[in-house]
Amino acid sequence: MGTAVFFGDELARYGFGGSHPLGRDRIYAFWSRLQSENVANVMVEQPEITNEETVLSFHDRDYVELVKMASKQCRSIPLDRGDTPSFRGIFEATLYVVGSTLAALDMVMEGADRAGRKIENAFVPIAGLHHARRDSAGGFCVFNDVGVAVIRARKKYNIKRIAYVDIDAHHGDGVFYEFVSDPLLFFADIHEDGRYLYPGTGSADETGVGDAKGTKINIPLMPEAGDKEFFDAFARVKEFIDSARPELVFLNCGADSLAGDPITDLRYSAQAHGHAARTLRRLADKHCKGRMIAVGGGGYNRTNIGNAWTEVVKELADLG
Ligand SMILES: [Zn+2]
Repeated sequence: MGTAVFFGDELARYGFGGSHPLGRDRIYAFWSRLQSENVANVMVEQPEITNEETVLSFHDRDYVELVKMASKQCRSIPLDRGDTPSFRGIFEATLYVVGSTLAALDMVMEGADRAGRKIENAFVPIAGLHHARRDSAGGFCVFNDVGVAVIRARKKYNIKRIAYVDIDAHHGDGVFYEFVSDPLLFFADIHEDGRYLYPGTGSADETGVGDAKGTKINIPLMPEAGDKEFFDAFARVKEFIDSARPELVFLNCGADSLAGDPITDLRYSAQAHGHAARTLRRLADKHCKGRMIAVGGGGYNRTNIGNAWTEVVKELADLG
């Protein structure tokens, strides 16, 4: 069994120019670090594009039209209140992000890649755009690839119980609020306290609404929190996901929660990301034949991107 790892220039295109922290070099920072490790059972997969109709299964038409229009302009247009600017070709670049997460879903569900190689789980480095809402961009995120993938998992594969775990430094508000009333989307998010960091949400009393009350946990950590605080918090996440008995597991492993990130204040080491991936992989083995998709999320210190994501791939690809 192998781990599908998506790599190619098409995914690099999802990046903002100039001095924007989300640059086009992030995927290569990961790739060169991964290559130095010689990890067995990694199947390299080409990025895949999706189409507008698929994106419309999650996003509102007016918003998709706005992104399409902005994508054709030579000058940059803000897609939110300021930190998500457009660039020429942003529509197609984002369709590659969504398409690659969907391709990862298809491979994991079918147990094989396009070449017929056996696949158990997958990692998409430039993906996990967790601030995108149905009707707007937010925090460097244009289309919510995991949001679209959840809808496809339900419609195409009849998957009901889905776990989503997010260890990026920022609260995954685009996933949380769009599924806040969904009682079968089990959401767990460890992040820097919203009083100190964008997007300002994800307090511990936000646990879902209506029928979904109790199907979400938010664990905010204070600035400067490190591995000890993370491991304590993750013990709760493990118990919660185990009792959820998921049929499919997503992990957003944003590397911006490591010490040295330029835009956040958490202080984990890459061991945190390895621990999260290993623990969830075991739960996926226990409950759903190992079906798990990890997405890269944020991360703006290039060394941290390489270290954190390589730890995740090593744990996903480990046969033991
Ligand atoms: Zn982040």
